[in-house]
Amino acid sequence: MKIVVADDSKMWRVVLKDFLSSQGHDVTIVSDGLEAYFKIHEVLPDVVISDVVMPGLNGYQLCRLLKNDPNFSSTPIFLLTASSESLDKFWSKYSGANAYIQKDSKNGFNLISSKLHEVEKVLSPTLLNPENGRRAFGDTLDKLLVETSLRGEVRKLFNHVEDMNYTVRKINDLLKELFKIKAMALLSISIDEMNLYSSIVDYEFLEKWMLSQLSRPSFPRKRSYVRIEGEDKCKGLSWISKIITFDSKEEGVVAIWRDKAFSARESSSLSIISEELGGILKIGSQLKEYRRNANFDDLTGLANYRALEEELRELWDDGKNFAISIVDIDHFKKVNDTYGHVIGNEVLASIGQILKNLAKKASCFAARFGGEEFLIISERNENFFEIIDSLRQKIEKTHPSQSVPELIVTISGGIAERNDSKSFTEVVEMADIALYQAKKSGRNRVVRYAAK
Ligand code: GH3
Ligand code: MG
Ligand code: MG
Repeated sequence: MKIVVADDSKMWRVVLKDFLSSQGHDVTIVSDGLEAYFKIHEVLPDVVISDVVMPGLNGYQLCRLLKNDPNFSSTPIFLLTASSESLDKFWSKYSGANAYIQKDSKNGFNLISSKLHEVEKVLSPTLLNPENGRRAFGDTLDKLLVETSLRGEVRKLFNHVEDMNYTVRKINDLLKELFKIKAMALLSISIDEMNLYSSIVDYEFLEKWMLSQLSRPSFPRKRSYVRIEGEDKCKGLSWISKIITFDSKEEGVVAIWRDKAFSARESSSLSIISEELGGILKIGSQLKEYRRNANFDDLTGLANYRALEEELRELWDDGKNFAISIVDIDHFKKVNDTYGHVIGNEVLASIGQILKNLAKKASCFAARFGGEEFLIISERNENFFEIIDSLRQKIEKTHPSQSVPELIVTISGGIAERNDSKSFTEVVEMADIALYQAKKSGRNRVVRYAAK
């Protein structure tokens, strides 16, 4: 076979050329990715073998370029790495290479040979019977082309991965176009979250059925259901479903329905699509987690300072009146000094939980303002003072640490309203002054800001 080999190391160029020539191949050797790209257009090789780490155009980039080029999208590409180089999992998957081989491993060369034999097997009918061969080769090429364009279509959705609802709608459109489906459902799972997007409204049935297809039992804490376009019932329709994986980990399930049976070829097309969806779901959930981490405080689960600032700015810009309260744990330093930082954290988490419940009940926004200080915003509670005072009473009655059951902490709070302040920082300052007064006058109390 005609093979183009790209490697920036002279030693490997010599070794690979000797090895491949000794196996009867017609080998063209180049020393970087760009040179390989041009040589490939000239030589039209049966196989391309390329090193990953090269100056200029690297192996992944070369691979992407060729796989996106209709003339070479079906040319098998083997990427070679050295054991000292890390194989970037994401890129190795999305470069579209046909094989990854560690060239300096014990059986690296055996692997290269056996992969080349596989390619030869596909090409060989051409030699045995030109007529059959051409058809077989054409079919293979056809299949590879369909596969590549399918993958290409799904990969385009990566551009919208930050908006999963939109992405799933686009997937629905694509599946409609490809299979003329009537209904579809897509379930995505991550550590503690499950999202079900479906045109069929029997969510209970779908959730149970789709989760049962996964080999790993999953008990998501958070569940969301999103209705997408399509028929809302699946009774009497034919269906196929695939498990969506990324890096051999299950990320979800996709199922489609229509009034005509699905062929084996269609089923394998859905497999290809689900392979690509794996990356999309994975990145989508990572993005979500990243966003969550960016807005929430790890220890207490409350909004963090950043999210708080955003909320205040928004309220301020809307011109709405609002009240805020800053609450601060009393003598918290003593808790740390007496019981240690770990118990201190336990207390903070426990108070965070109480605040979270209160905020939910009273439709307030609660955030961790800093160390052992919290800030609560209320937009329309007439009785805001009573709400904060009830928080104070609740905390006073709580035993916030399981490890130190006798421990009790109290909080002090300061309250201020927007009224005619000039900025939200001014409102925060007023609440802080009120808090200082609460501390000075004995702690474990709530004080309203009063202008002097
Ligand atoms: P006061 O009643 O006047 O508020 O006294 P205080 O001791 O609570 O106030 P001070 O500001 O002197 O001390 C706050 C302490 O909170 C000091 C700091 O070590 C502790 N702290 C801040 N953040 C954390 C945290 O994340 N975990 C733990 N365990 N302690 C924290
Ligand atoms: Mg304090
Ligand atoms: Mg403090």
